[in-house]
Amino acid sequence: MEEAMHGDTRSKLVLCECGKFHFTYRSMTLHFERQEFFAFVDSVARLGTLVKDSANGTAHHPAAVQN
Ligand SMILES: [Zn+2]
Repeated sequence: MEEAMHGDTRSKLVLCECGKFHFTYRSMTLHFERQEFFAFVDSVARLGTLVKDSANGTAHHPAAVQN
């Protein structure tokens, strides 16, 4: 089993024996197929960028963003 820990230890990624990724963030764990995990990462990164962009120059954060 390979394991990668981030510096802040709030998130953890484990490559399980079953071939899937177990992504743990704080108290939640998500179980992904490999391709699904990379799609998830891309999606979260895009949403993070959208939130940052739309929060710039405005007093209020958006209630929701989607891609
Ligand atoms: Zn597993």
